[in-house]
Amino acid sequence: MPPVPDILQIAVPVPLRRHFDWLAPAEYPRENLLPGIRIQVPFGKRELTGILLNTASRSDQETGKLRQAIRVIDEVPVLGPMLLGLGLRMADYYQTPVGEALLGMLPALLRQGKPRGDLLPQTSSSSLHVESSLVPNADQQATLDAIAGAGDAFNVFLLEGVTGSGKTEVYLQAMEKVLLAGKQVLVLVPEIGLTPQTLARFRERFSLPVVALHSRMSEKKRLQHWQIAEAGIARIVIGTRSAIFTPLLNPGLIVIDEEHDTSFRQQDHFRYHARDVAILRAQMEGIPVILGSATPSLESLHNARAGRYRHLCLSGRAGGASLPVFQLTDMRSQPVQSGLSEALLAEVRTHLSAGNQVMLFLNRRGFAPTLLCQECGWSAICSRCDIRMTLHLREGILLCHHCDRRAKIPSRCPECRTEGLQATGQGTERLEENLSEFFPQTPIVRIDRDATRRKGTLEKAFARIHAGEAKLLAGTQMLAKGHHFPDVTLVGIVDADSGLFSADFRGPERMGQLLLQVAGRAGRAEKPGVVMIQTHHPDHPLLTLLLQEGYSAFATALLLERKQSLLPPFSYLALIRAEAANAQAAKCFLQEMGELIPSDSTLSILGPVPAPMPKRAGRFRFQLLLQANLRSVLHQALKKALPRGETLPSGKKVRWSVDVDPVEMV
Ligand SMILES: [Zn+2]
Ligand SMILES: [Zn+2]
Repeated sequence: MPPVPDILQIAVPVPLRRHFDWLAPAEYPRENLLPGIRIQVPFGKRELTGILLNTASRSDQETGKLRQAIRVIDEVPVLGPMLLGLGLRMADYYQTPVGEALLGMLPALLRQGKPRGDLLPQTSSSSLHVESSLVPNADQQATLDAIAGAGDAFNVFLLEGVTGSGKTEVYLQAMEKVLLAGKQVLVLVPEIGLTPQTLARFRERFSLPVVALHSRMSEKKRLQHWQIAEAGIARIVIGTRSAIFTPLLNPGLIVIDEEHDTSFRQQDHFRYHARDVAILRAQMEGIPVILGSATPSLESLHNARAGRYRHLCLSGRAGGASLPVFQLTDMRSQPVQSGLSEALLAEVRTHLSAGNQVMLFLNRRGFAPTLLCQECGWSAICSRCDIRMTLHLREGILLCHHCDRRAKIPSRCPECRTEGLQATGQGTERLEENLSEFFPQTPIVRIDRDATRRKGTLEKAFARIHAGEAKLLAGTQMLAKGHHFPDVTLVGIVDADSGLFSADFRGPERMGQLLLQVAGRAGRAEKPGVVMIQTHHPDHPLLTLLLQEGYSAFATALLLERKQSLLPPFSYLALIRAEAANAQAAKCFLQEMGELIPSDSTLSILGPVPAPMPKRAGRFRFQLLLQANLRSVLHQALKKALPRGETLPSGKKVRWSVDVDPVEMV
């Protein structure tokens, strides 16, 4: 029989929901053409690195027009059968072009077609020593028993425990069993939670190779760690979002810490949620997954309450530490200086003079959110986004937080020429300045994106806090994530109101989570903590519910609201977004896209409407919202419509994308 030409079905990173065919390179050994290897191919005038999906003897394309692949990069697949399968299912679930999804799973160097590096010789440390496990309290023991009792098969555990209740100790002891059985553990943490501290804690406990994978490391190192994990040498892999795609030779357990955290969701290109991918992966690998949080997402809580996840609760604080006391400070009823109430300032003084640390939290960076002319009402607006620019005084600029446009600070009003423009409102930079005026003798550390931009500065700042050098800590939500500050006895929430009134239906959920996460930083050791919340709405029902009855009651109320208004997790959403320099072009495209989707009683389509932020970086933004009561209905509709949508001529003039299970509605 004459040899049949080998057709290679390859996924390449282009925005089309299909694979393409090439001819195998001449004389390449056919048995080496394994699915999951990388192959370099010509694509139009470009060369692309793609992933081999399959070989075939026939092509849907005209065989005469098929081009030959340039070269095979790998002998061993970079995506083994499990990860390749996971990638294909995700591309399908998230309606992502398959090539973008598969290549998006790889470390950047592999994505660019670079060869794998050499594996560094590892010091063999094959035997496991476990250092100083703590004796679990009754709650922790019950949790560990439940996890152990379920065996090593696929199970989702939702571990809900107030901050300080010892979730990490539960992770560590659950991991110990898996490691003793010779298997690997994958731990995901939110972007900022990955600190030397966290790593040190794992390394102290287990005398086994632990590797980290996150965006603050070099690409070269990242690839090395990826390979060490793939070879089974790294026994614990700890990383942020994309670490969920790390190949593991012998997986035994996945842990997602702070599962509610929105940094697990990738917001551009390949829009996946690492928590949901982790659950799918655990199911495919047949291993357990633990989702931990003090403030679980409503989705996870709903799944747990419906019995799909095992719900495990740690109710008290480990080591006998007491929960912080909440105090609402009514901003309407007392003198306020520079955004700080007299009551809060007095409390700060008391805690500082007792030798403790104080943390003030404000989720707004920069000096002031508005630069205003009091004469004519002019304010500094970003011309590309039609939104106020933030004053960054230290850098001496106005900055748009949405498109990063920078502008000079005008010395007088551009409209009426009045001098002395007013900085209105406050951000963390101004908070720090005000604090240094109120407490000139007290060393202050500010933690936000601006103050920690340079490599190493964040680590240095945390080190100063832990050494007790800094007494006053001011910052954004970077302060709220994953850090333990045992000497902080007072947490001040400078402005609780911005979260209460949000356009996004997830706003109140986020507000509650953030408030408790920040509050959880206080009083972790024997020292009891106080949390003061400044608000103009001390009677707001959600705020009262959260503080008086706790997160569980708060979440129950929010879930009821979601159910009544048929929002997730009681319905399924997808957003199709389009943006263009010409507003009409974006709107027209979505109009045509909407016509491709049949709507009926099971699927509703809203739009096209302007996005909540209607203009960004000079482009007009519209969106089409799809809502269905069944996931399969939504899925089928998208699957039918998108490939046709890709061919719409109006799509050539716009940037568009699909977001399945969107977490941000902007
Ligand atoms: Zn003016
Ligand atoms: Zn802008």
